[in-house]
Amino acid sequence: MADRGLLIVISGFAGSGKGTVVKQILADRPYRCSLSTSVTTRSPRPGEEEGVSYFFRTNEEFERMIREGELIEYAQYVSHYYGTPKAWVEQKMKEGIDVILEIEIQGAMNIKKMYPDAVLIFLMPPGASELEKRLVGRGTEDAATVRARLSRACEEAQGIENYDYLVINDEVEACAGRIETIADAERLRTGRQADQIRQMQQGLERFRV
Ligand code: 5GP
Repeated sequence: MADRGLLIVISGFAGSGKGTVVKQILADRPYRCSLSTSVTTRSPRPGEEEGVSYFFRTNEEFERMIREGELIEYAQYVSHYYGTPKAWVEQKMKEGIDVILEIEIQGAMNIKKMYPDAVLIFLMPPGASELEKRLVGRGTEDAATVRARLSRACEEAQGIENYDYLVINDEVEACAGRIETIADAERLRTGRQADQIRQMQQGLERFRV
């Protein structure tokens, strides 16, 4: 248990810059951290690669994966399915590697139910206008999708208190550093170091008077 990797869930509104922050964390910690690739039924955006950005699947295939228990969690987000493949995530954690899930809020809540020791982090831009500016500036979605995503952000904001940590994404490196600090502190929790505690207790037994 002590050497099992952490399950780190990072959520944030579309346009919160979480993708960039996660890339920074992976660059900082290439051997200790990995990002789960989700399955989705939405179409690839320009530049997105199968198996890298997502596994792009049909509705039928996605529903088969749900039925056969291949996903740890899944959710619908602005009329498409998104889900996290189970086998890969479990394997990485077993190898002691921290796994990052970059998922939306419903999925995050489901993860907390299934993995109570998962670490839930919500990433926020410095303000609502900044969010709109980033989302429009990204230029990857049409106006209606941008509106749908901002409206979704409004709903998601109601659930932020359910996360363990809130991190403001003002500057990428600083923000990634805060998340790395959280991961380091989480690894030091007594609950994650049961073996070390037990060893010390046993080692000290011989001094008992
Ligand atoms: P996008 O279409 O912009 O790539 O992602 C839309 C939303 O779906 C984002 O908030 C993203 O974090 C979330 N998402 C991506 N993969 C998953 C997943 O496997 N499960 C859940 N629940 N949400 C996901």
